[in-house]
Amino acid sequence: MLRHWNDVGVVVPDRTPTGHREYTDEHIARLRIVQACQRVGMSLPEVRLILTRSEARRSEVIERRLEWIRAQRAQLADAERFLTHVIECRHDLVTRCEDCAQYSALVPRFASRP
Ligand SMILES: [Zn+2]
Repeated sequence: MLRHWNDVGVVVPDRTPTGHREYTDEHIARLRIVQACQRVGMSLPEVRLILTRSEARRSEVIERRLEWIRAQRAQLADAERFLTHVIECRHDLVTRCEDCAQYSALVPRFASRP
């Protein structure tokens, strides 16, 4: 993974006189940020845009991730509402409950990635 990030220029370590890769605190900080960006669904080309404030498409990429995160949060809230109701539902059969039917219709199919 480190070699790949080196090859694509996302995190390029220094080289010791003997040719070994050397990671400074700065590199480690960069690695952590790259990993965090990937965990929120960014591709490496997108991550590269994030790392420098002056990149023109930076806010566009971040806004798109934020939209995705907010959509996920809304879907989780619908799923939570459904299950919270079911556990408290007073009907012997959930199929006889209009609220169960209504809330269940709102539960999304979760997409793990955008
Ligand atoms: Zn119910």
